[in-house]
Amino acid sequence: MKVCCWGARGSVPVSGPEFDCYGGDTTCIEIRSRNDALLVIDAGTGIRRLGCALVEQGRLDLTLLFTHTHWDHVLGLPFFKLLYNPRVRIDLYGSPGLQGDIGKLLARVMAPPLFPVPFGSLPARIKGCVWQGETLQVDTLRVTRIALSHPNLGAGYRVEEDGKSFVFLTDNELSQHHRGGRSFEEYAAFCRGADLLVHDAEYLPEEYPSRRGWGHSHFGDAARLARAAGVRTLGLFHHNQERIDADVDGLVLRCREMLTGPGPAPECLALTQNSSFDL
Ligand SMILES: [Zn+2]
Ligand SMILES: [Zn+2]
Repeated sequence: MKVCCWGARGSVPVSGPEFDCYGGDTTCIEIRSRNDALLVIDAGTGIRRLGCALVEQGRLDLTLLFTHTHWDHVLGLPFFKLLYNPRVRIDLYGSPGLQGDIGKLLARVMAPPLFPVPFGSLPARIKGCVWQGETLQVDTLRVTRIALSHPNLGAGYRVEEDGKSFVFLTDNELSQHHRGGRSFEEYAAFCRGADLLVHDAEYLPEEYPSRRGWGHSHFGDAARLARAAGVRTLGLFHHNQERIDADVDGLVLRCREMLTGPGPAPECLALTQNSSFDL
């Protein structure tokens, strides 16, 4: 499978030369199966650039899945060009039980007077779909989910194909239990042996005490999870809106130090809005 990141910023998009490397767009992840089936997770502002690329490719079908509907994860949706093409077919999934009906939630965001085009009037053929049990199959991609520890809930996902695995856990606070969230051990079990774990690392450990309960982790907790789960690569994600490139570089160096110790250490990097991985 191939995993591409179109937005790695958290909370609100940012711009300016000091953000050139890691980028200013918010959450959007593209996953391709070996047969080129397309799964997109979240519609932060990064989905605008993804949409432009898909138009160039002539792509007319995809599956769209959401972690949750905080602004930074839906903000780009109205500007996703494929929504305005009647030939496009989109299978839309939320995570029942972990969030409300995703179609109804998006219809609240994309509605006058907040946006002139109502979600229900979009030209694309958007089919609201439901999970059959705990697993979602998109072509050869097998998707499972876990509840996030985050205000207003949400879901994290594990995507597997041909023995390779990608875990996406953003907006997840490992050191604070939010209603519906899971224990550290349960998250570690969910991430076990992943080839790539992308986890929320919004804060520095020294910033965290004053932001406890806001729904995000510091990089030390993400590192602890990566080691406990024995993942191959840890990707730090949901970069704070004030974190300029040099600060993110420093955060990665500190995280790598924290990952060393007995046994094999996971590789560590911070995702940019142009990162891609072949698993
Ligand atoms: Zn977020
Ligand atoms: Zn959130």
